[in-house]
Amino acid sequence: MNIATPEAHSLDLGLNWHNSFADLGEAFFTALAPKPLPAPYWVGRSNAVAHELGLSADQLSSDALLQALSGNRHIAGSRPLASVYSGHQFGVWAGQLGDGRAILLGQTAAGQEIQLKGAGLTPYSRMGDGRAVLRSSIREFLCSEAMHGLGIPTSRALCVTGSNAPVYREAAETAAVVTRVAPSFIRFGHFEHFAYRQQPAELETLADHVIDRFYPACRTSTQFGGNRFAALLQAVSERTAQMVAQWQAVGFCHGVMNTDNMSILGLTIDYGPFQFLDTYDPGHVCNHSDSAGRYAFDKQPNIAYWNLFCLGQALLPLIGEQELALAALESYKTIFPAALQARMQDKLGLGQSPAEFAATDRSLIEDILALLAADRVDYTIFWRRLSQLPGGGSTEPVSDLFLNRAGAQDWLQRYTQRLGSIAAAPAAALMRQTNPKFVLRNHLGELAIRAARNMDFSLVSKLLMLLESPCEEHPGHESMAGFPPDWAGSIEISCSS
Ligand code: AMP
Ligand code: MG
Repeated sequence: MNIATPEAHSLDLGLNWHNSFADLGEAFFTALAPKPLPAPYWVGRSNAVAHELGLSADQLSSDALLQALSGNRHIAGSRPLASVYSGHQFGVWAGQLGDGRAILLGQTAAGQEIQLKGAGLTPYSRMGDGRAVLRSSIREFLCSEAMHGLGIPTSRALCVTGSNAPVYREAAETAAVVTRVAPSFIRFGHFEHFAYRQQPAELETLADHVIDRFYPACRTSTQFGGNRFAALLQAVSERTAQMVAQWQAVGFCHGVMNTDNMSILGLTIDYGPFQFLDTYDPGHVCNHSDSAGRYAFDKQPNIAYWNLFCLGQALLPLIGEQELALAALESYKTIFPAALQARMQDKLGLGQSPAEFAATDRSLIEDILALLAADRVDYTIFWRRLSQLPGGGSTEPVSDLFLNRAGAQDWLQRYTQRLGSIAAAPAAALMRQTNPKFVLRNHLGELAIRAARNMDFSLVSKLLMLLESPCEEHPGHESMAGFPPDWAGSIEISCSS
């Protein structure tokens, strides 16, 4: 079946496509259609993302859309393609990679790109089969929306469609497709690709595309002697710093921070072996394949900088002078710590510190993190319980979490004293908005996956509902906000499933 034609069989979603990436020209991609999957079914759907795309609830439950997003029907106005990029993986130059299993359908008039992940072989599939399995697709779907619910920049996910077509990993599994949505899926690796290939014209085309669509202020910036490419590098560094600060504050480990998984827009993308921390272990490594611990939780801020350095090197032919590139990267070193500090202050309900409390607040944060790490305290539960304090809650549910109760009580005394210097109601509100009750812990994802394998998708929907507003109480769903079961520690998740 040739699904790219004829247009008569195309599904018209009324999206009014623009496809500015496709307009860049063939040096940047291979045009090709998604590969069909037999007898698809819905696994999970986000009405919120549908709404943002301008799709109706009826469209999102239609068989026509199910078929189109599973590769069985062309969407009118889309120009499907797989883009080419390269990258550094685990600190080593990996050469050409590219969309090995993701197909970009195009860009809607509202400026959102829609991509099907798991849509079949492309010229960049290398040894892979072009497919994604159900479990990793459910994880990506739920985590995309969970991160959005937390206010963390991320690609979104419209839906997951499944099929009983077999896909072989360690064992036989089944196929699924995640429909991802983002203003752009351009990665650091796209720039590295054209720099390595010594194609400065394409490099410049790509950089100008990104500047014109997303960073127009770089064109008129007078910083760096009016060098727009240095201004772009600085802007990307700053967005990346903000994103990683949010990861660290919420306890999110990405797991595969290769340069091909770094968004030029500072979005969290390519959810693979990610994990929200259960206990607070700063050196936690969530990716089972990362034996050296390169992407451990506490290394993420430095790895992001290392990746930005690679981007700087890739942009060097455009920037011209190395000093300018280095200067453009400099602000990461101040923006990241300031952003993290601000997030942690919010978690404590303190907001911005007045000068006389700056040192006190810094040591409150350092000390609580040391206590949490020493006792391997559950990170999410600690912050949520702490959030009860400004409203008059007792300190006991918090100190109960620690083996070192004396240490915890001492810290709580210092903290409550500091809280006494500010108004309780706004502190309580800030903490409730900043310290989620629900995060996508590995075991929750696993429970949803197990049910989905038996064609029960209710837990996918329930988790989506909770994670869309993770700071709300959602009474009746306490079991989704509790400590992980013992078996959670034995879940093993690796790259590229
Ligand atoms: P990831 O670790 O998921 O970021 O993937 C790294 C590279 O491998 C990217 O170029 C992916 O497109 C490609 N890749 C991962 N899994 C597959 C697969 N099953 N089939 C084809 N390409 C894949
Ligand atoms: Mg990737």
